Amino acid sequence: MLIGVLGGGQLGQMIALAGLAMGLRFRFLDPSDEACAAAVGELRVGSFIDSAAIDRFVQNLDAATFEFENVPVSALHQVASRRPTYPSAKSLEVGQDRGKEKALFASVGLDVPRYVLSRTPVQLETAMEALGLPVVVKTVREGYDGKGQRVVRDEASMRSAIEALGNAEVIVERMVSFRREVSLIGVRSVTGEMAFYPLTENIHQSGMLRVSTPRADDPLQPEAERVGRAIMESLEHVGVLAIEFFVERDASGKERLLGNELAPRVHNSGHWTQDASETSQFENHLRAILGWPLGRTSLTRACVMVNMIGRVPGREELLEVRDARAWPRIHVYGKASRAGRKVGHVNVVGESLSAVESLVTALRAVTLRAEAMA
Ligand code: AMP
Repeated sequence: MLIGVLGGGQLGQMIALAGLAMGLRFRFLDPSDEACAAAVGELRVGSFIDSAAIDRFVQNLDAATFEFENVPVSALHQVASRRPTYPSAKSLEVGQDRGKEKALFASVGLDVPRYVLSRTPVQLETAMEALGLPVVVKTVREGYDGKGQRVVRDEASMRSAIEALGNAEVIVERMVSFRREVSLIGVRSVTGEMAFYPLTENIHQSGMLRVSTPRADDPLQPEAERVGRAIMESLEHVGVLAIEFFVERDASGKERLLGNELAPRVHNSGHWTQDASETSQFENHLRAILGWPLGRTSLTRACVMVNMIGRVPGREELLEVRDARAWPRIHVYGKASRAGRKVGHVNVVGESLSAVESLVTALRAVTLRAEAMA
């Protein structure tokens, strides 16, 4: 079977790595001739708004999916009119718009941080005053990895936010003093079957994910799954879907979930599933869109995923980190070094989280040093 993937980045590459072992072959459409998924399938270089290029891309495909959230909805419609394509445009549309995400969260009974939508300088100023500083201002569309986003803490940054984003469609959010951030990776098959991975605790810096740790028995798991089930059903979603939450304490000291954002695709905070789950998110995404039974999603061993950003540390640097046996694999995407770019990740595994703690600390130091030199 030949599967078409819109987007040829590392997520597409890892979908294909899982799929090749299942006897599938892959074709990618990406505007860049340097797209890293070229290593594991046929890369067609073309724009997502070139309908002739999309027509050539869909030829002979058995099914199609996407790995990039900002694929134009029109491109997905065009592919879907010719081939079975999952997730559908409905999921993609919601995932591209922070306003629609928030409305969907509210519709399934998930609280969100207080927010106001704005599209003029006056509205933006009024919104910031109404919410009270500090606030986070985010573009409604096309923001990811902290791009299109700024924290406003004082009068001066308020002025510069109005200058830079006053005429953009933005969402102004109350700054949440969260205790932690977690994400839920869920998967729903064309048959309606659903499965969820254990909640993953995430650490971000400068808006980018750095470290993810799956939690075997998070007390918030049942509520997160309730939300995930309701969202996937409401979208009739097919494939993997990730939901990111803030965890806040309420007045009585009890933890509760607040919805942050949703990604209708495989997700960076699910990369640990490659080495510490019975079935990876990438394999389950393919099983879901092809209508095959889903694989088990339980955690098989303690794991911490560390992202490599900007530059992959050199061999010498990595060898400084003792006990490389605790990394079953190093995942390097084959992308050129560039500041702020995700270039790989390492899943550190062990008997328990405390057993891998010092290794994770050492590895983080090495990756941060490499990043500073990118
Ligand atoms: P996002 O692109 O919305 O996922 O934001 C990236 C990261 O920025 C989040 O994972 C948080 O660490 C931080 N962040 C975003 N919005 C807020 C907020 N309203 N309050 C506090 N931190 C935030």
